[in-house]
Amino acid sequence: MVMGTFANIVAVSDDHGVAARSVEAAFDALVAVDDMMSDYKADSELSRLNREGFPGPVEVSPELFNVLLDSVEFSKMSKGAFDITIGPVVDLWRQAEKTGRKPTQQEIATAKSKVGYEKLILKLDGQTRTVRFAAGGMKLDLGAIAKGYAVDLAVSAARKAGASGAIVDVGGDINCFGVTPRSENYWRIGLQDPAEEGKIILVLKLAGEAVATSGDYRRFVDIEGQRYSHIIDPATSSSAKAFTSVSIIAPTAIEADAIATCVSVMGLDGGMRLVESLDNVEALIVLADPDQDYIYTEGIRKYVDTSQTYAEDSAASRMVTPKASGQ
Ligand code: ADP
Ligand code: MG
Repeated sequence: MVMGTFANIVAVSDDHGVAARSVEAAFDALVAVDDMMSDYKADSELSRLNREGFPGPVEVSPELFNVLLDSVEFSKMSKGAFDITIGPVVDLWRQAEKTGRKPTQQEIATAKSKVGYEKLILKLDGQTRTVRFAAGGMKLDLGAIAKGYAVDLAVSAARKAGASGAIVDVGGDINCFGVTPRSENYWRIGLQDPAEEGKIILVLKLAGEAVATSGDYRRFVDIEGQRYSHIIDPATSSSAKAFTSVSIIAPTAIEADAIATCVSVMGLDGGMRLVESLDNVEALIVLADPDQDYIYTEGIRKYVDTSQTYAEDSAASRMVTPKASGQ
């Protein structure tokens, strides 16, 4: 368990000791990111920044600074759909989950006034990196990006420790490199059917690409009889009308993780347009309606393992028949 979820790490080497040390190095990297970027841990660097960012400024580590810089890039790219300053609104909904009572309009309005990535001021001055909040009560939440970042670091830690291949999976955010235990040059990754635990809808073949899946099928809250996703649309401060699941393939897990959240907030049209506009980024979306077809970018086909036989209704069998993708 790490970062509030399960981690799965495999490292490959002819030498058992190297493999074991690689797994350990990868896990240590995950723990280090969690210790730094968790908003659940009062002594994390992120929590300290949240306490002291206003009026600030607070000097931060290069690692945290870079993740904040990347986060702002994803905000710009998604026109604000992705926004790590969403913390005050996330807190309201977490509270609602406990009390079973929806936040009031007034509470939402107050929280919303503390949200907005343009209020996050990042400054690089020589070797000194500082962060400042433009408004009191602001709170950063890296829940949509830290796992991906940690997975990328864990994979490079395994590589540095001497592994000839490795895969790291933290709650569905996955990156890999090198050879598999069967000496193949690509890793097979099954995407789970959101509607049925244990059923695989599609197998991807990845040689160093990353994949992340975001969705409301496992993480949602029930408040006053309504189902809410844990992903917030900053435009409404309410739960995004997330798809059942969205999987993103990208060069790195940090990108895949963040873009999966972007697409969940932006919806089908906006989300697919964003993905189509990005090089080396592919998407597969499973809609809530089981009778609907899967929505995907054409480019994802090259990652689908067609050597497998699929059930009639699997995503792969539906993808094999040429069909308009995306919009
Ligand atoms: P998962 O945890 O299922 O991988 P995400 O990667 O989408 O899902 O991360 C969701 C988490 O990100 C939420 O629990 C919350 O902490 C935070 N979050 C919610 N809405 C947003 C948003 N619009 N932009 C950035 N982070 C968000
Ligand atoms: Mg994410």
